[in-house]
Amino acid sequence: MKYSYISHLYCPKCGNTYETSEQYQLCTCGSPLLVDYDLEGISRNLSPDVLALREPSLWRYHELLPVENAANVVSLGEGMTPLTLFPRVGENMAIEKLYMKDEGLVPTGSFKARGATVGVSKAREVGVKELAMPTNGNAGAAWGLYAARAGMKATIVMPYDAPEITRNEVALSGANLYLVNGLISDAGKIVAKAVGDYNLYDASTLKEPYRIEGKKTMGLEIAEQFNWQLPDVILYPTGGGVGLIGIYKALKELKALGWVEGKLPRLVAVQSTGCAPIVKAWEEGRRESDFWKDSETLAFGINVPKALGDFLVLDAISDTEGCAVAVDDESMLQEQEKIAQMEGNFICPEGAATITAARKLRENGWIGADETVVVLNTGAGIKYPDTVQVKPEMLKKEDTIVKKVEESES
Ligand SMILES: *Cc1c(COP(=O)(O)O)cnc(C)c1O
Ligand SMILES: [Zn+2]
Repeated sequence: MKYSYISHLYCPKCGNTYETSEQYQLCTCGSPLLVDYDLEGISRNLSPDVLALREPSLWRYHELLPVENAANVVSLGEGMTPLTLFPRVGENMAIEKLYMKDEGLVPTGSFKARGATVGVSKAREVGVKELAMPTNGNAGAAWGLYAARAGMKATIVMPYDAPEITRNEVALSGANLYLVNGLISDAGKIVAKAVGDYNLYDASTLKEPYRIEGKKTMGLEIAEQFNWQLPDVILYPTGGGVGLIGIYKALKELKALGWVEGKLPRLVAVQSTGCAPIVKAWEEGRRESDFWKDSETLAFGINVPKALGDFLVLDAISDTEGCAVAVDDESMLQEQEKIAQMEGNFICPEGAATITAARKLRENGWIGADETVVVLNTGAGIKYPDTVQVKPEMLKKEDTIVKKVEESES
């Protein structure tokens, strides 16, 4: 049996196709390329029950992933993250079946590791020796470290104000790290120039076709973890939108395989009010977004003023009868605190944004009380050490603790 059933690359805009043994970036028309598989071959040779016997990492879905030779896989055991019921927050917002998929538990502390494990593995397979990419932090950390594991060189450019922890991760990985006094879009321009000057593999979001394939495994896992019964709504914090495009692609592939049936979940793109190009385009009924000027949000993973795959995100939410919602940073932080206190989980601001969005959509009736809702927590709260400001009481060595009497306790 084959390790991968990859068949070819295709362009979702103009329909051009490409074979998969060469290095490809964008289509000649400028659109991102997507990967197609011989799904009939998979359905003849693989049954979903077999998956349960495999290792608990995203490579359990290798037939649906692009790497053809298992020896090229560069893995740190990423994937199969927990899908946890949030009963108290759920009750608090009147969504009894509220689940969070926790991507804070993968290597490098964010779901970017999914894109990196598949992207770097396939890059190795097609002979890449050095890659380059712009990043808001988490992607650079993941790709820097996975490239190191693959023995591949990396050049990574990030905004000066991207979180210091991700800067340290990249530096420690041995990648060439540069900071720029600007946004990820500025870092992108610098990378594009370097790619041309030094003939590097451009690993920018959606400029290579395989990162999406890694991220799509979130969708595969959600389906498997619900025993192939799909939830009603999935909310995703959207920057470049790769995760959402990937989840949508996964669900369609599962449907074509006959492993899931019925209506697909309504996909919701969640952004910050400080950077909401997709939400704006959605509200205006447009199929592409405009560059969002002077974008600003503490949820740095979703600070993307213009996404190359915006049209794919907008298609995914419209095809599934989903929607796009913006929430402000203040409510994100309140939600983050609430989740720590009610569910014992310190999630990232982007993840908190999806829960705030679910709350809003429940309040206006878009989500029904008995629907099954999944939110993605895309990273660990501990990757954002400065987001939370606390002022605990300072004791002197000879002090004793005087406990405040809580009102609720008699
Ligand atoms: C990159 C990132 C996102 C956005 O992911 P896309 O798939 O590019 O939309 C969300 N949350 C975190 C923590 C991220 O690092
Ligand atoms: Zn094209």
